[in-house]
Amino acid sequence: MSSPDREPFDLTAYDPETLAVRAGIERSQFGEHGEAMFLTSSFVFNSAAEAAARFSGAQPGNVYARFTNPTVTMMQDRLAALEGAEACVATSSGMSAILSMVMALLKSGDHIIASRSIFGSTQQLFNNVFAKFGVETTLVDATDIAAYRDAVRLNTKLFFIETPSNPLTEVIDIQAVADTAHEAGALLAVDNCFCTPALQKPLELGADIIIHSATKYLDGQGRVLGGAVCGRKAEMEEVWKFLRTAGPTLSAFNAWVILKGLETLSIRMEAQSAKALELARWLEVQPWVERVFYPGLESHPQHKVAMRQQKTGGAVVAFEVKGGRDEAWKLIDSTRMLSITANLGDTKTTITHPATTTHGRISQEARDASGIRDNLIRLAIGLESVADMQRDLSRWLTA
Ligand SMILES: *Cc1c(COP(=O)(O)O)cnc(C)c1O
Repeated sequence: MSSPDREPFDLTAYDPETLAVRAGIERSQFGEHGEAMFLTSSFVFNSAAEAAARFSGAQPGNVYARFTNPTVTMMQDRLAALEGAEACVATSSGMSAILSMVMALLKSGDHIIASRSIFGSTQQLFNNVFAKFGVETTLVDATDIAAYRDAVRLNTKLFFIETPSNPLTEVIDIQAVADTAHEAGALLAVDNCFCTPALQKPLELGADIIIHSATKYLDGQGRVLGGAVCGRKAEMEEVWKFLRTAGPTLSAFNAWVILKGLETLSIRMEAQSAKALELARWLEVQPWVERVFYPGLESHPQHKVAMRQQKTGGAVVAFEVKGGRDEAWKLIDSTRMLSITANLGDTKTTITHPATTTHGRISQEARDASGIRDNLIRLAIGLESVADMQRDLSRWLTA
């Protein structure tokens, strides 16, 4: 006889860095140590009766990869453990995570309150897509808690925020917005893309749902698209039902990449944040810099809230160069190493001119209202040396 099985791994008894490398692992009959990638669209059954039982749900197990896939399940369980969520549903991208969450939990006639500084595509999804199906959205000033309360209607079902915001790193008091949402009988969803569970745990601050673009820090190396919704079992069951029918499922390959990305999430987030803080402090004393936006700086308007709800200031730093668009473009064009791209969450530092790229399609008035000026530059700090970043950002002075 073989020795008795070991006690199973108990998710509640371990620390986050342990969960990041061990949570969610399901081994096959081969006993592989690493997480297996199951590239299969469907699963076979031993008999017609077993097929019927699997399809009806009477017997748990995999049926078809639009519904479940073991590699995707491992990634979901690992992310749920890191967020402290009962359940997680992985999606094909961050946008399909938001789409699936709203399609599953809201219906025609419902109302959403969202912070004005949410991601551009999220705003378009709310204004151009959900509006067509009778779900209206009111955008409010991100940091003005009274504005959320004033926007509440009888049919308000969802509050949606993103903190810190892109690109100005405004920080929203999650606990205060959660209280306001719950007083209104609504749910609070937080897009936790910028901080990730390594730096911020929205569920512990009263949020009901977490949205992720796994494309960013969860993968962390700019390789794949992915997304996730985390929260309570009951609501995630509804999100999953939408997904298995509508199909914006995460592929097994992308899930495997993200699963391995999660293993280094906290060490990357801490290292990238430390470099971001060092660079932000350096930018703050450069004579050619007008203003720096970074939650880890004492000069940031919501520095205290940030330090209460985040472990660090995060890895995104924005700053205004003295001058206008020409100076901002000159600085960007003079760099040699930094990547000129709108993406973020990579180990390679990226540099972006929001006014003419990510926020280029909104009107000048709307840009002015949200404080995105022509001299603003956004950096998403990676893992290169801070000295090399500084050298690259200073080249334009002698160019
Ligand atoms: C990128 C991003 C999204 C969308 O994610 P995709 O994976 O590109 O679909 C949503 N929210 C935030 C904050 C993002 O940065």
